[in-house]
Amino acid sequence: MAAQIIDGKALAARVRAELKARIAVLAERGQRPGLAVVLVGDDPASAIYVRNKIAACEEVGIRSWCDRLGAGTSQETLLARIAQLNADVAVHGILVQLPLPKPLDAQRVLESISFAKDVDGLHATNAGLTLMGRPHFRSCTPYGVMKMLETTGVPPRGAHAVVLGRSNMVGKPMAMLLLAADATVTICHSGTRDLPSITRQADILVAAVGRRNLVTADMVKPGAVVIDVGTNKTPEGKLAGDVDFAAVREVAGWISLVPGGVGPMTIAMLLTNTVEAAERAAGLTH
Ligand code: NAP
Repeated sequence: MAAQIIDGKALAARVRAELKARIAVLAERGQRPGLAVVLVGDDPASAIYVRNKIAACEEVGIRSWCDRLGAGTSQETLLARIAQLNADVAVHGILVQLPLPKPLDAQRVLESISFAKDVDGLHATNAGLTLMGRPHFRSCTPYGVMKMLETTGVPPRGAHAVVLGRSNMVGKPMAMLLLAADATVTICHSGTRDLPSITRQADILVAAVGRRNLVTADMVKPGAVVIDVGTNKTPEGKLAGDVDFAAVREVAGWISLVPGGVGPMTIAMLLTNTVEAAERAAGLTH
């Protein structure tokens, strides 16, 4: 029997609907969540991502600002702008769109964002708190994957979760969130030997590599939950994940779509973190 589909687009719509209700509560107190997005340079893909994030903010009622800075912006100018945003009480979340043009130092820039406004969850303090099992802001993509996993009803507790990829943005925080949910976690990377023998043990398989069709049907345990974070281009220019969807669908129990899976959930969790930041600022929670 073909796997059930984990529909990230539909789930993201439900998350946004819940956020509208939380934003209405803030509005009653005269508060409105605010997200500042900083885009440096003219990478066309980044411009599309930023446009989608701003549109999502507008839809739920989050105030948003987009700072477009030229590709030649100096590190000092960028850090000075972030310092202004850190000090602005109307701004609850700050997102610097990655990648940054060379020679800007992305890690230094991310760390200049106040960790209390780091709604992308990439600041070392937020990464550290996630590692310690008491996250302040979860990195948006892994956070979205955890929400997708919840909809399957498959409990992470005791499950063997295998994460493909160990980046600071996706793989590592993904592994930490699964570990915090009591899964037994294996992290794989480019140096992993005999990948199929490991993925075949996975009750939950999260692919976050960026290699089209890396995960084939023979690498998947029958009935497993397979969540595809990867974004790759087909020769026809279409978006495709890391998983050979058509074949893996015949083996897995649950499988996510690309597009329409993790992508919309990543944006939904960015909005969630921004609303949470505004609620904290208003003394409503946490
Ligand atoms: P990244 O920084 O390039 O990391 C890729 C990871 O994959 C690295 O840890 C690398 O290992 C590992 N890897 C490479 N070849 C491998 C192989 N053959 N077997 C196992 N692991 C292998 O990428 P990222 O930022 O984590 O993103 C991963 C993918 O997710 C990309 O396609 C990206 O576009 C996508 N993504 C999607 C969303 C979304 O919202 N849908 C969000 C973020 C990222 P090493 O560490 O050893 O090099």
